[in-house]
Amino acid sequence: MEACQQEFRRETQERDLVVHLWCRSYFGWRWAALCLLGLAVGACVAHPTGSQRFEYFRIQMGTRVQIILYADSEELARQAATAAFERIQNLDEILTDYNPESELMRLCREASRRPVPVSGDLLSVLDRSLGVSRITDGAFDVTVGPLVALWREARRTKRLPERRLLAAARARVGYKNVLLDRETGSVKLRISGMKLDVGGIAKGYAADQALAVLKGHGILRALVAAGGDIAVSGAPPGKVGWTIAVQSPAVAPGEKMALILHDCGVSTSGDTEQFVEIRGARYSHIVDPKTGRGVRHSATVTVIAPDDTSADALATALSVLPPKQGLKVAESQPGVAALIVARNGDQLRSYVSRRMQSYMSRH
Ligand code: ADP
Ligand code: MG
Repeated sequence: MEACQQEFRRETQERDLVVHLWCRSYFGWRWAALCLLGLAVGACVAHPTGSQRFEYFRIQMGTRVQIILYADSEELARQAATAAFERIQNLDEILTDYNPESELMRLCREASRRPVPVSGDLLSVLDRSLGVSRITDGAFDVTVGPLVALWREARRTKRLPERRLLAAARARVGYKNVLLDRETGSVKLRISGMKLDVGGIAKGYAADQALAVLKGHGILRALVAAGGDIAVSGAPPGKVGWTIAVQSPAVAPGEKMALILHDCGVSTSGDTEQFVEIRGARYSHIVDPKTGRGVRHSATVTVIAPDDTSADALATALSVLPPKQGLKVAESQPGVAALIVARNGDQLRSYVSRRMQSYMSRH
């Protein structure tokens, strides 16, 4: 992995991308109509350096997927972007929990009875997920499916899940109950009724894979954004990196903050859009696997990591962990930086990892 270079600074120049720290549900129903219109819309702008900038988007994985790339011809740009979008579509079909026939959902049904051979992509996503579970003491846990279902229902009805339902769901949660065999490429689930939910890592993985497809087409300067999950390769011509403006509650009104990034991933998780307020308490769509409850303390978390699979999963995990513990995890991981904005009643407090701090103080 190439070194990840980032700089944090007040925004003074043009932005390549604005990351709104809003969360949308993975495969949310409200995007279904837009998905039908999900044909690539391309725009091409001549770039002063001679190499041209191309921009495309589609609605995929319940969010807006944007690709910005530099290429020497429109034909190459279009071919590469189309292949990258197809890769994401293919991953969506494997990983969605909205289609009972997706590979992931079939695995959930069958793998409590016997080890089930899975595709390389599903194996990789689960393997990476378990790795993040281990370093975050289970704060990130793809077995949270039964709890996520209860909190989705709570958002709909505006009523807290019943205690007995929460207890029954928690009994089916726990990443240590996923037995992954890399040798045979198979997965076994130790408890029947387990439900895997890869919503906290799938978009980051998809962004990384799309970027790899672009590289395969010889495109070495590109950005793939799946909502708030962004993977970038080489910097645009003549620039030190991609300028990604971060709109966060940590930034004072009227101020803007930007990250200059290349060859890495940056992801944001937050409860700005997806939450439910019940009896004055605000619960996020991110669930604490230990308590079974929607997270209450975390507003937004932005993580930079060497790739976006890690950044996505860590942003979700650091939303669950108490902020100081989250910072410790970020400090312990090579190439990882974190900005955590936590709620304390009506107050917001920012926690910035040392690496992120050093980027911030550079300008
Ligand atoms: P979003 O996808 O909404 O931008 P995240 O990447 O943080 O934000 O993913 C949140 C999703 O992850 C939830 O909608 C749910 O599907 C799943 N999830 C919720 N809690 C956890 C958890 N503790 N560990 C892993 N995945 C989780
Ligand atoms: Mg995530």
